[in-house]
Order: sequence, then C-alpha cells, then structure tokens
Amino acid sequence: MNTKKQFFTTPIYYVNAKPHLGHAYTSIAADVATRFKQMEGHETYFLTGTDEHGDKIVQAADKQKTTPKEYADKISQLFQDLLPLLNIKNNQFIRTTNPDHIRIVEAILSKIYDSGDIYFSSYEGLYCFGCERFYQERELVNGKCPDHGVEPQAIKESNYFFRMSKYQDWLINHIKTNPGFISPVQYETEILSFLKEPLEDLCISRPKTRLTWGITLPFDEKYVTYVWFDALVNYISALGYPDGDLFKKFWPNTRHFVAKDIIKPHGIYWPIMLKAAGIEIYNGLNVHGFWNVQGSKMSKSVGNVTDPIKVTEVYGVDPFRYFLMREMVFGLDANFTEDTIVSRINSDLANDLGNVFSRILSMNQRYFKGEVKGADTKIEKERNLSLALDAQTAIDGFTKAMSQCEFHKGISAIWQFISILNKYIDTNEPWALAKDDASAATLETVLYNLIEGLRVVSCLIYPIMPQTSLSMQKTLCMAKTEDSFYTLEELSPWGQIKKGTLIAKPDSLFPRIDTDKIKPKIPVKASKPFKPALKDEITIDDFAKIDLRTGTIIKAEKIEKSDKLLKLLVDLGAETRHIIAGIAKTYTPEDIIGKQVIVVANLKEATLMGEVSQGMILAATHKKRLVLSGFDTEIVPGNPVK
Ligand SMILES: [Zn+2]
Repeated sequence: MNTKKQFFTTPIYYVNAKPHLGHAYTSIAADVATRFKQMEGHETYFLTGTDEHGDKIVQAADKQKTTPKEYADKISQLFQDLLPLLNIKNNQFIRTTNPDHIRIVEAILSKIYDSGDIYFSSYEGLYCFGCERFYQERELVNGKCPDHGVEPQAIKESNYFFRMSKYQDWLINHIKTNPGFISPVQYETEILSFLKEPLEDLCISRPKTRLTWGITLPFDEKYVTYVWFDALVNYISALGYPDGDLFKKFWPNTRHFVAKDIIKPHGIYWPIMLKAAGIEIYNGLNVHGFWNVQGSKMSKSVGNVTDPIKVTEVYGVDPFRYFLMREMVFGLDANFTEDTIVSRINSDLANDLGNVFSRILSMNQRYFKGEVKGADTKIEKERNLSLALDAQTAIDGFTKAMSQCEFHKGISAIWQFISILNKYIDTNEPWALAKDDASAATLETVLYNLIEGLRVVSCLIYPIMPQTSLSMQKTLCMAKTEDSFYTLEELSPWGQIKKGTLIAKPDSLFPRIDTDKIKPKIPVKASKPFKPALKDEITIDDFAKIDLRTGTIIKAEKIEKSDKLLKLLVDLGAETRHIIAGIAKTYTPEDIIGKQVIVVANLKEATLMGEVSQGMILAATHKKRLVLSGFDTEIVPGNPVK
C-alpha cells in the first residue's frame, strides 16, 4: 500500500510549571490535524513530550527540596496524564532526559562542531537568571528585566557559539522558495522581516560552573549545551535519527505546531541547525496565537493560568475540544471566558447538533418505529429531495479548510450543513406528510435523506469530537470499532445507511446548560480586571471635532531638566510639528525615530518645561509606563485617523 506519511509534533513542554490552557490548545490542535490527516488516508505519527534541562528546573527543584530529575519526573508525568484526559492520541512521549535523546544531541553537536560551525568565544553582557538569557541594554525597563523586575547582572564568560549568520541568506531563500513553510502567512512575513537584520550567532553552551543540569558538550566536558540544541533535536531523536525506521519513514514530512512565542527558535534556529548538520529541512511550521484570559496573555509567569483538567471535568472533553477549535482563528489570539464556553455548548452543540440529531431520529421513531425505510429514487428526483449535493459541499469545504489548519472554517462547513438539515425539515414538514397515507413514500425519502445527513455529520466531526462521533455512529448502527473513523473516501458516497436498519431513540448528545443556575465553576486566576469608570457619552459629532492624523517621528531628543519628556519632531505630511511627549521612561530617542503614531493635530498649543508642544500623540498606560499607539502597516503621514 502506497500511503502518504505525515509527522506531527507539539513543542516539548518545559517542566517548570504545570500544564495550562495554552499547552492544551497546542496539543489538541495537533491532535485534530493528525486525525484529519488520517481521514485523508495518510499514515501519521504524532509526537509530544517534555523539555527537562536548564536553570529553571534546578531552581524549581531546589525550592521543593528535591533533585532536578525527580522534579522533572513529577511534572513530566502531569503532562503525560493530561493527554488521555484531552483524548489526544500521541504515538510517543519524548523526554529530553532520555538516554537515546542525549546520545543523538551529542552526535549532532559533534557533527556541526567538526564541520566548523560551532566556535569558542567570549561574551560579555547583562544576564537575567530568571529568564536564562542575556539582555541588550535597550530591552531593559529602568535598567531592570521587563519580566522579573530585577537588575540583570553583568557577566563575562567564554562560551560556544553556533554560526547561524553564515546561513542567513540560505534561510531567506529557503522560506521564499517554499511557500507554506511557515504558516499562517503573517508569521512567514514576521520571520522574513526579522531576517532583514543581520542574524547573530547563537550561544549554545553554559559553563558547568553555572549550570550542570544539561547535556555535556561532547567536545568540552566543562560545558553543557543550552536550551535549543537540546530541545529542538527531540523532533528527530524521537524518530531515531539517523537510521531509525521512523526517521526514514516520516522525516521530513513534518508539521510542527507551536505558539507564536517560540516562532524564532522553530522558524530560524531549527532549519539552520538541520542545514548545518546536513539533515533535510522539515516541511511545515504551523503557528498559533495566544489565549487571553480576561484580556491578559495566558502565561505561567503571570499566574492567570486556567487549568484544562478543570475545564474538561466541568464541561466534558469534546465540548472543550470543540470550543478551542471553533473559537480561535488559527494564528490569531482568542479570548477564553467561561461564558463563551457555555454559550458555544448551548448554541452550537445542544441547540444545533444535539437538537438536529434527536429531532430526526425521534421522527424516525415516531413514524417508522425506528426502522430506516430508504429513499424512493423516483420521488426523490421529482421533488428534488436529495441532500447528496449539500453533503458533498460540506465535505469539500471541510476538507479544504482543515488541510490548511483553518479549523474554525472546517467546523463552520459542518454547521452550515446542519443548518441545511434543519431547513429541510421545516420545508418538507414530515409531520404533515405523516398525516396523509398517499405521502408515505415521500416521508420515507425525506427521513432517509436526513439520516444520511446525520451519518455525514457524525463522520466529519471525528477529528474535533471523536467521542461524540463514535456515540452518534453507535446510534446510527454504523460504528466500526471503539477506536476507528471513516476516511473521506469512505464517508463520501451517498446512501450508505442500509434500508431496514433499526435505530433506537437517541440519548441526548449535549444537555443544555442552564445559565441561570450556573455560577462560574472554573477558577480563573486573572490579573485584576482593569475597569475604569467611563467618561460621559459623546456623539459622533463630538468625536469628529478631534482631528487625528498619522504622523512619523523624524527626530527625538531628551529634554534636559525632565526624565519623563521627549521632544519630538513629527512629520504630518503637509507640515512638521514639535510635540512634547511624556514617554522618556519607556522609549529612548533612538527607539522611536521612524515610528508611526497617531497625532491629535488640532490641539491647542501648550508649553511644557519651556518647550512649545504643537499637538499630542496617543499612548496607553501599561505596567505603569506609556506605550505608543500605532499601525500594523506603514501609512503615509498626514492621513486622517477615523
Ligand atoms: Zn528576567
């Protein structure tokens, strides 16, 4: 059999904290994509796992008075336990403390070292121990790490560096000549724009005097390798690079699923590492956005983590999977609130899917005691009663969207078909047909088409809601085994439910959640919601009095006596203006030259610290500092902002 092969991965999750919603989403998205690929007839292999080395693990273990290994064992187990709860069917769970993984990391390091792309050099810089990274001065806020609020320490040390710069042009060309290598396209643009700047070589080691919890460099035992050369290699060590059967079978037909915060390591370091090691480049990186909980990014360091296990316990695994896939446009950020989950369950699952399922099968019970009667092809044709074409449209729309990881669109194609089933019932009024014996064959035909419609729906929802798919198929007497599904090829032909099949009255698929009775059940530890009292309402005419324009900052300088103010020269197209802005604590003059801003152009002139200000630029307070508003694309200065 000549099946196509596809390898799917999640990132390996760092074991410095328990799994949260973000991890659950990446894993579910990769699982949905894998199951869909199987429906397309591909042989798949799905890898997930944990990343277990580094300073943070040592620190976390110290806090709990345990060893790094014991600590890693414990947290890794939490990630492993989560998978069956989310109904994720991975083929392997890799841990970077596995001896096989360590051996392969060493082999690749040696290979690249021997070829001359790893070199020894000294480096001096400001290091934040919390972040495990060096900072540029300009990245600091008031001299402190923006994440940890502590001053980084000046460190000088010799380390090993990976010569990434050498491969910069190659990578740009590789991305440009392989459309879809990084998707959705906005992330390809982001990487290419990053690559317009000279690429720095990557520090890949830490001296053992500072860190011992890592893989010893094969060419210098005084050092361990650091982060990415360890973590990224998991994708091929898991497959048994270089000679393993899995590696030969699946590599490089790979789709890596990652969140947007690790796009650089995956879109830049990883392909260059592969290139330098003489390994074929993986063929796809799929990047998704963040879940915001009450408007703040889901992240372990902020402490607003929502526990996916809790959500699953309260609402069920299929509704949770459905919600995540339906609510987020893959690639963009989305909001997570309990209200939205409840409303999706009630409207999409209970009302649409659950209702159409029980409505159709109840009628079949009432009129035919549950027996499938079959369609009368003559009547079907005459009265245009076939739903075959609508089903095919749904299958096609679903397939196209899912193959591009547009999960929300794939789901929407199924739900459009569900809405067609409901309309079909309303138009054909089976209850009216049932009153007239002469319409018996028409009624049989109508119900047969509806039941066939349910069959198609039950097959299409499989990647997103495998349990619901199975449960519908059991009711329809078409389930294969506990763990199987219908391929697109198998499910497509119309008319597969056999005449004479006895279908029992169905249980409710999704009980409605009574919104009056529920109180928030999922503890959401969010950062304090920011709800300033709104000012008095204004009319559109009031608003129109403010002349907002796009402006480009062409000059910026500090104002002597002030640590808050910057004096800016702003290009407004037809003229330039001097504007005094209180942003000196956030931005240095070099930071903002060339930046595009929104200017209040008809504000009365004012004098600040002896300087005339001819307008104002818009900014918002974030963590006690002002952040400038702007645009996500370049705009001609002087354009009105509406
Ligand atoms: Zn830090």
